[in-house]
Amino acid sequence: MTRPDRPQPNPGIMDIAAYVPGRESAPGVAKIYKLSSNETPLGPSPAVAEAVASAAAHLELYPDGSAQQLRQAIGRAHGLNPERILCANGSDELLGLLCQTYLSPGSEGIFTEHGFLVYRIQITAAGAVPVVVPESNLTADVDAILAAVTERTKLVFLANPNNPTGTYLPFSEIRRLQSGLPKDVLLVLDAAYAEYVRRNDYEAGIELVASSENVVMTRTFSKIHGLAGLRIGWMYAPEAVLAAVNRVRGPFNVNALAIAAGSAAIGDRAHVERAVAHNEVWLPRLRGAFEEIGLKVTPSVANFLLIHFPETEGKTAAEADKFLTGQGLILRRVSGYGLPHALRMTVGSEEANRRVIAALSAFMEA
Ligand SMILES: *Cc1c(COP(=O)(O)O)cnc(C)c1O
Repeated sequence: MTRPDRPQPNPGIMDIAAYVPGRESAPGVAKIYKLSSNETPLGPSPAVAEAVASAAAHLELYPDGSAQQLRQAIGRAHGLNPERILCANGSDELLGLLCQTYLSPGSEGIFTEHGFLVYRIQITAAGAVPVVVPESNLTADVDAILAAVTERTKLVFLANPNNPTGTYLPFSEIRRLQSGLPKDVLLVLDAAYAEYVRRNDYEAGIELVASSENVVMTRTFSKIHGLAGLRIGWMYAPEAVLAAVNRVRGPFNVNALAIAAGSAAIGDRAHVERAVAHNEVWLPRLRGAFEEIGLKVTPSVANFLLIHFPETEGKTAAEADKFLTGQGLILRRVSGYGLPHALRMTVGSEEANRRVIAALSAFMEA
Protein backbone atom coordinates (compact mmCIF):
# COMPACT_ATOMS: atom_id res chain seq x y z
CA MET A 1 0.00 0.00 0.00
CA THR A 2 1.36 3.41 -0.88
CA ARG A 3 0.99 6.04 1.76
CA PRO A 4 1.05 9.82 1.21
CA ASP A 5 4.51 11.31 1.56
CA ARG A 6 3.43 13.72 4.25
CA PRO A 7 0.71 14.03 6.91
CA GLN A 8 -2.70 14.76 5.41
CA PRO A 9 -5.14 17.22 7.03
CA ASN A 10 -8.70 15.99 7.43
CA PRO A 11 -11.02 16.34 4.42
CA GLY A 12 -12.22 19.91 4.00
CA ILE A 13 -9.52 21.59 6.09
CA MET A 14 -7.53 22.88 3.13
CA ASP A 15 -10.70 24.27 1.53
CA ILE A 16 -11.14 26.68 4.42
CA ALA A 17 -10.47 30.29 3.48
CA ALA A 18 -8.44 31.41 6.49
CA TYR A 19 -9.93 34.32 8.46
CA VAL A 20 -8.32 37.62 7.55
CA PRO A 21 -8.38 40.06 10.49
CA GLY A 22 -9.00 43.78 10.00
CA ARG A 23 -5.85 45.60 8.87
CA GLU A 24 -3.96 47.58 11.48
CA SER A 25 -1.42 49.52 9.45
CA ALA A 26 -1.18 51.75 6.38
CA PRO A 27 2.19 51.84 4.62
CA GLY A 28 3.84 55.24 4.79
CA VAL A 29 1.22 56.83 7.04
CA ALA A 30 2.33 57.83 10.51
CA LYS A 31 -0.93 58.18 12.40
CA ILE A 32 -3.37 55.30 12.10
CA TYR A 33 -7.04 55.19 13.03
CA LYS A 34 -7.98 51.53 13.17
CA LEU A 35 -11.68 51.27 12.50
CA SER A 36 -11.58 47.78 11.05
CA SER A 37 -12.22 45.37 13.93
CA ASN A 38 -15.05 46.91 15.98
CA GLU A 39 -12.79 47.65 18.93
CA THR A 40 -13.82 50.43 21.33
CA PRO A 41 -12.18 53.85 21.10
CA LEU A 42 -12.53 54.17 24.88
CA GLY A 43 -10.17 51.34 25.80
CA PRO A 44 -10.87 49.08 28.79
CA SER A 45 -12.06 50.20 32.22
CA PRO A 46 -9.36 51.94 34.26
CA ALA A 47 -9.89 49.17 36.84
CA VAL A 48 -8.32 46.65 34.48
CA ALA A 49 -4.70 47.85 34.64
CA GLU A 50 -4.47 47.34 38.38
CA ALA A 51 -6.14 43.93 38.26
CA VAL A 52 -3.77 42.75 35.54
CA ALA A 53 -0.73 44.10 37.38
CA SER A 54 -1.55 42.20 40.52
CA ALA A 55 -2.32 38.98 38.59
CA ALA A 56 1.00 39.42 36.79
CA ALA A 57 2.85 38.88 40.06
CA HIS A 58 1.95 35.17 39.98
CA LEU A 59 2.42 34.00 36.45
CA GLU A 60 4.14 30.79 37.59
CA LEU A 61 0.78 29.46 38.77
CA TYR A 62 -1.82 27.82 36.57
CA PRO A 63 -5.04 29.80 36.40
CA ASP A 64 -8.22 28.49 38.01
CA GLY A 65 -9.41 26.08 35.32
CA SER A 66 -13.04 26.86 36.05
CA ALA A 67 -12.50 30.65 35.94
CA GLN A 68 -14.73 30.88 38.99
CA GLN A 69 -13.92 34.49 39.85
CA LEU A 70 -14.80 35.59 36.34
CA ARG A 71 -17.98 33.52 36.17
CA GLN A 72 -19.11 35.00 39.46
CA ALA A 73 -18.41 38.53 38.27
CA ILE A 74 -20.36 37.90 35.06
CA GLY A 75 -23.16 36.31 37.06
CA ARG A 76 -23.38 39.37 39.33
CA ALA A 77 -23.36 41.80 36.42
CA HIS A 78 -26.08 40.00 34.46
CA GLY A 79 -28.09 38.38 37.25
CA LEU A 80 -27.15 34.87 36.09
CA ASN A 81 -26.28 31.65 37.88
CA PRO A 82 -22.46 31.33 37.52
CA GLU A 83 -22.89 27.55 37.25
CA ARG A 84 -24.53 28.07 33.89
CA ILE A 85 -21.66 30.15 32.51
CA LEU A 86 -18.61 28.83 30.67
CA CYS A 87 -15.66 31.07 29.84
CA ALA A 88 -13.25 30.72 26.95
CA ASN A 89 -10.32 32.24 25.11
CA GLY A 90 -12.52 34.67 23.19
CA SER A 91 -15.99 33.81 21.99
CA ASP A 92 -14.33 32.51 18.83
CA GLU A 93 -13.09 29.60 20.91
CA LEU A 94 -16.64 28.90 22.04
CA LEU A 95 -17.90 28.83 18.46
CA GLY A 96 -15.24 26.22 17.68
CA LEU A 97 -15.93 24.19 20.82
CA LEU A 98 -19.65 24.08 20.01
CA CYS A 99 -18.88 22.80 16.51
CA GLN A 100 -16.47 20.16 17.83
CA THR A 101 -19.05 19.06 20.36
CA TYR A 102 -22.15 18.93 18.18
CA LEU A 103 -21.02 18.50 14.57
CA SER A 104 -19.42 15.58 12.78
CA PRO A 105 -18.76 14.59 9.17
CA GLY A 106 -22.11 14.40 7.42
CA SER A 107 -23.93 16.78 9.72
CA GLU A 108 -24.90 20.32 8.74
CA GLY A 109 -24.45 23.70 10.39
CA ILE A 110 -26.55 26.66 9.25
CA PHE A 111 -25.69 30.35 9.13
CA THR A 112 -26.92 33.28 7.07
CA GLU A 113 -25.67 34.85 3.86
CA HIS A 114 -23.77 37.75 5.42
CA GLY A 115 -23.16 36.03 8.75
CA PHE A 116 -19.90 36.14 10.69
CA LEU A 117 -17.15 34.29 8.75
CA VAL A 118 -15.93 32.30 11.74
CA TYR A 119 -19.11 30.16 11.52
CA ARG A 120 -18.21 28.72 8.15
CA ILE A 121 -14.62 28.11 9.25
CA GLN A 122 -15.57 26.26 12.42
CA ILE A 123 -18.33 24.20 10.81
CA THR A 124 -15.95 23.11 8.06
CA ALA A 125 -13.12 22.43 10.52
CA ALA A 126 -15.44 20.03 12.36
CA GLY A 127 -15.88 18.09 9.11
CA ALA A 128 -19.50 19.17 8.73
CA VAL A 129 -21.27 20.88 5.85
CA PRO A 130 -21.78 24.67 6.02
CA VAL A 131 -25.28 25.57 4.86
CA VAL A 132 -25.70 29.22 3.90
CA VAL A 133 -29.20 30.69 4.04
CA PRO A 134 -30.30 33.83 2.15
CA GLU A 135 -31.11 37.02 4.06
CA SER A 136 -33.74 39.63 3.25
CA ASN A 137 -32.62 43.21 3.19
CA LEU A 138 -29.26 42.33 4.78
CA THR A 139 -31.16 40.85 7.72
CA ALA A 140 -31.49 37.24 8.84
CA ASP A 141 -34.73 35.62 7.67
CA VAL A 142 -36.26 33.17 10.11
CA ASP A 143 -38.40 31.43 7.50
CA ALA A 144 -35.39 30.90 5.26
CA ILE A 145 -33.42 29.42 8.15
CA LEU A 146 -36.24 27.07 9.10
CA ALA A 147 -36.65 26.04 5.46
CA ALA A 148 -32.98 25.01 5.34
CA VAL A 149 -33.24 22.58 8.25
CA THR A 150 -32.78 18.92 7.28
CA GLU A 151 -32.39 15.67 9.21
CA ARG A 152 -28.66 16.35 9.22
CA THR A 153 -28.90 19.84 10.76
CA LYS A 154 -27.30 19.93 14.21
CA LEU A 155 -26.52 23.58 14.78
CA VAL A 156 -27.67 27.08 13.75
CA PHE A 157 -25.44 30.13 14.23
CA LEU A 158 -27.09 33.52 14.41
CA ALA A 159 -25.28 36.71 15.29
CA ASN A 160 -27.77 39.17 16.77
CA PRO A 161 -26.97 41.90 15.94
CA ASN A 162 -25.04 40.60 12.95
CA ASN A 163 -21.52 41.55 11.94
CA PRO A 164 -20.85 43.04 9.36
CA THR A 165 -24.37 44.29 8.58
CA GLY A 166 -25.29 45.73 12.00
CA THR A 167 -28.89 44.56 11.57
CA TYR A 168 -30.79 42.60 14.20
CA LEU A 169 -33.85 40.45 14.75
CA PRO A 170 -36.43 41.42 17.36
CA PHE A 171 -36.87 38.89 20.10
CA SER A 172 -40.24 37.74 18.81
CA GLU A 173 -38.42 36.48 15.71
CA ILE A 174 -35.74 34.68 17.74
CA ARG A 175 -38.49 32.98 19.70
CA ARG A 176 -40.22 31.95 16.50
CA LEU A 177 -36.93 30.53 15.22
CA GLN A 178 -36.35 28.52 18.38
CA SER A 179 -39.85 27.12 18.44
CA GLY A 180 -39.61 26.10 14.78
CA LEU A 181 -36.34 24.20 15.20
CA PRO A 182 -36.22 20.50 16.05
CA LYS A 183 -35.38 20.08 19.75
CA ASP A 184 -32.03 18.47 18.98
CA VAL A 185 -30.76 21.40 16.89
CA LEU A 186 -28.60 23.77 18.93
CA LEU A 187 -29.34 27.46 18.34
CA VAL A 188 -26.24 29.58 19.03
CA LEU A 189 -27.13 33.23 19.62
CA ASP A 190 -23.92 35.20 19.18
CA ALA A 191 -24.56 38.41 21.07
CA ALA A 192 -21.12 39.99 20.73
CA TYR A 193 -22.63 43.47 20.38
CA ALA A 194 -25.61 43.11 22.73
CA GLU A 195 -24.50 45.90 25.09
CA TYR A 196 -24.66 48.45 22.30
CA VAL A 197 -28.24 47.70 21.26
CA ARG A 198 -30.83 50.22 22.41
CA ARG A 199 -34.09 48.78 21.11
CA ASN A 200 -37.12 47.80 23.15
CA ASP A 201 -37.76 44.70 21.07
CA TYR A 202 -34.21 43.36 21.44
CA GLU A 203 -33.03 40.73 23.90
CA ALA A 204 -29.69 38.97 23.85
CA GLY A 205 -31.24 35.59 24.63
CA ILE A 206 -30.82 35.07 28.37
CA GLU A 207 -34.45 34.18 28.95
CA LEU A 208 -34.60 31.75 26.06
CA VAL A 209 -31.46 29.94 27.28
CA ALA A 210 -33.00 29.64 30.73
CA SER A 211 -36.25 28.22 29.42
CA SER A 212 -35.09 25.75 26.77
CA GLU A 213 -32.51 23.02 26.27
CA ASN A 214 -31.29 23.89 22.79
CA VAL A 215 -30.21 27.54 22.98
CA VAL A 216 -26.90 29.05 24.05
CA MET A 217 -25.91 32.71 24.12
CA THR A 218 -22.28 33.68 23.53
CA ARG A 219 -20.80 37.00 24.64
CA THR A 220 -17.42 38.67 24.47
CA PHE A 221 -15.15 41.05 26.34
CA SER A 222 -13.55 42.08 23.06
CA LYS A 223 -16.03 44.74 22.04
CA ILE A 224 -17.66 47.05 24.58
CA HIS A 225 -15.30 45.98 27.40
CA GLY A 226 -12.24 46.82 25.32
CA LEU A 227 -10.32 43.62 26.05
CA ALA A 228 -9.89 42.11 22.59
CA GLY A 229 -6.18 41.66 23.23
CA LEU A 230 -6.76 39.38 26.20
CA ARG A 231 -9.25 37.04 24.48
CA ILE A 232 -12.23 36.50 26.78
CA GLY A 233 -15.60 35.14 25.78
CA TRP A 234 -18.34 33.39 27.69
CA MET A 235 -21.56 31.57 27.12
CA TYR A 236 -24.74 31.10 29.07
CA ALA A 237 -26.00 27.63 28.37
CA PRO A 238 -28.23 24.75 29.52
CA GLU A 239 -26.64 22.25 31.91
CA ALA A 240 -26.39 19.45 29.37
CA VAL A 241 -24.54 21.67 26.89
CA LEU A 242 -22.11 22.78 29.59
CA ALA A 243 -21.50 19.18 30.64
CA ALA A 244 -20.55 18.31 27.06
CA VAL A 245 -18.46 21.38 26.18
CA ASN A 246 -16.60 21.24 29.50
CA ARG A 247 -15.28 17.83 28.43
CA VAL A 248 -13.93 19.21 25.16
CA ARG A 249 -12.36 22.52 26.20
CA GLY A 250 -8.77 22.87 27.30
CA PRO A 251 -8.49 22.59 31.09
CA PHE A 252 -6.94 26.09 31.41
CA ASN A 253 -8.48 27.78 28.38
CA VAL A 254 -8.81 31.18 30.09
CA ASN A 255 -5.52 32.64 31.29
CA ALA A 256 -4.90 34.30 34.64
CA LEU A 257 -4.59 37.84 33.28
CA ALA A 258 -7.84 37.42 31.38
CA ILE A 259 -9.67 36.20 34.50
CA ALA A 260 -8.43 39.18 36.50
CA ALA A 261 -9.09 41.74 33.77
CA GLY A 262 -12.52 40.44 32.84
CA SER A 263 -13.65 40.36 36.46
CA ALA A 264 -12.61 43.98 36.92
CA ALA A 265 -14.05 45.16 33.61
CA ILE A 266 -17.52 43.73 33.99
CA GLY A 267 -17.91 45.35 37.41
CA ASP A 268 -17.39 48.81 35.94
CA ARG A 269 -20.85 49.65 34.70
CA ALA A 270 -20.09 53.34 34.37
CA HIS A 271 -17.44 52.55 31.79
CA VAL A 272 -19.88 50.47 29.77
CA GLU A 273 -22.40 53.31 29.95
CA ARG A 274 -19.80 55.76 28.66
CA ALA A 275 -19.15 53.49 25.69
CA VAL A 276 -22.88 53.19 24.96
CA ALA A 277 -23.35 56.95 25.24
CA HIS A 278 -20.47 57.62 22.83
CA ASN A 279 -21.96 55.15 20.37
CA GLU A 280 -25.45 56.63 20.69
CA VAL A 281 -24.09 60.03 19.71
CA TRP A 282 -21.91 58.91 16.83
CA LEU A 283 -23.90 56.13 15.19
CA PRO A 284 -26.66 58.49 13.96
CA ARG A 285 -24.20 61.32 13.28
CA LEU A 286 -22.03 59.17 11.06
CA ARG A 287 -24.99 57.69 9.27
CA GLY A 288 -26.48 61.14 8.67
CA ALA A 289 -23.19 62.55 7.43
CA PHE A 290 -22.62 59.68 4.99
CA GLU A 291 -26.17 59.83 3.67
CA GLU A 292 -25.78 63.55 3.15
CA ILE A 293 -22.87 62.95 0.78
CA GLY A 294 -24.89 60.41 -1.18
CA LEU A 295 -23.84 57.11 0.37
CA LYS A 296 -26.27 54.43 1.48
CA VAL A 297 -25.84 53.19 5.02
CA THR A 298 -27.47 50.08 6.47
CA PRO A 299 -29.25 50.99 9.72
CA SER A 300 -27.09 49.56 12.50
CA VAL A 301 -27.75 48.87 16.17
CA ALA A 302 -24.13 47.96 16.92
CA ASN A 303 -20.86 49.93 17.11
CA PHE A 304 -20.17 49.83 13.40
CA LEU A 305 -21.77 50.84 10.12
CA LEU A 306 -21.98 49.22 6.73
CA ILE A 307 -21.45 51.92 4.09
CA HIS A 308 -22.43 51.16 0.49
CA PHE A 309 -20.53 52.70 -2.41
CA PRO A 310 -21.53 53.26 -6.03
CA GLU A 311 -20.19 50.83 -8.61
CA THR A 312 -19.09 53.69 -10.88
CA GLU A 313 -15.40 53.98 -11.53
CA GLY A 314 -13.66 56.40 -9.20
CA LYS A 315 -16.27 55.94 -6.49
CA THR A 316 -16.11 52.24 -5.66
CA ALA A 317 -15.62 50.71 -2.24
CA ALA A 318 -12.15 49.51 -3.24
CA GLU A 319 -11.16 53.00 -4.32
CA ALA A 320 -12.68 54.58 -1.22
CA ASP A 321 -10.73 52.12 0.90
CA LYS A 322 -7.51 53.06 -0.85
CA PHE A 323 -8.22 56.76 -0.44
CA LEU A 324 -9.01 56.41 3.27
CA THR A 325 -6.00 54.19 3.92
CA GLY A 326 -3.78 56.88 2.40
CA GLN A 327 -4.96 59.12 5.25
CA GLY A 328 -4.44 56.49 7.92
CA LEU A 329 -8.15 55.70 8.14
CA ILE A 330 -8.48 51.93 8.12
CA LEU A 331 -11.95 50.56 7.49
CA ARG A 332 -12.86 46.98 6.67
CA ARG A 333 -13.46 45.61 3.19
CA VAL A 334 -16.23 43.03 3.32
CA SER A 335 -16.01 41.25 -0.04
CA GLY A 336 -15.44 38.03 1.89
CA TYR A 337 -18.93 38.53 3.30
CA GLY A 338 -20.45 38.84 -0.15
CA LEU A 339 -20.47 42.63 0.07
CA PRO A 340 -17.87 43.82 -2.47
CA HIS A 341 -19.39 47.31 -2.76
CA ALA A 342 -19.40 48.15 0.92
CA LEU A 343 -16.97 49.08 3.68
CA ARG A 344 -17.56 48.49 7.35
CA MET A 345 -16.57 51.29 9.69
CA THR A 346 -16.25 50.91 13.45
CA VAL A 347 -17.49 53.90 15.42
CA GLY A 348 -14.21 55.45 16.53
CA SER A 349 -13.05 58.36 18.62
CA GLU A 350 -14.50 61.77 17.83
CA GLU A 351 -11.29 62.65 15.99
CA ALA A 352 -11.33 59.49 13.90
CA ASN A 353 -15.02 59.88 13.06
CA ARG A 354 -14.58 63.50 11.96
CA ARG A 355 -11.65 62.52 9.80
CA VAL A 356 -13.62 59.79 8.04
CA ILE A 357 -16.52 62.16 7.39
CA ALA A 358 -14.16 64.76 5.93
CA ALA A 359 -12.24 62.21 3.88
CA LEU A 360 -15.33 60.57 2.43
CA SER A 361 -16.85 63.96 1.61
CA ALA A 362 -13.71 64.83 -0.34
CA PHE A 363 -13.71 61.41 -1.98
CA MET A 364 -17.32 61.70 -3.15
CA GLU A 365 -16.89 65.29 -4.39
CA ALA A 366 -13.73 64.58 -6.37
C1 LIG B 1 -16.12 40.34 17.34
C2 LIG B 1 -17.09 39.22 17.26
C3 LIG B 1 -17.01 38.16 18.14
C4 LIG B 1 -16.02 38.18 19.27
O1 LIG B 1 -14.96 37.38 19.10
P1 LIG B 1 -13.90 37.20 20.27
O2 LIG B 1 -13.31 35.89 19.91
O3 LIG B 1 -14.66 37.11 21.57
O4 LIG B 1 -12.97 38.33 20.22
C5 LIG B 1 -17.94 37.14 18.05
N1 LIG B 1 -18.92 37.19 17.14
C6 LIG B 1 -19.06 38.23 16.30
C7 LIG B 1 -20.20 38.27 15.36
C8 LIG B 1 -18.13 39.26 16.33
O5 LIG B 1 -18.24 40.29 15.48
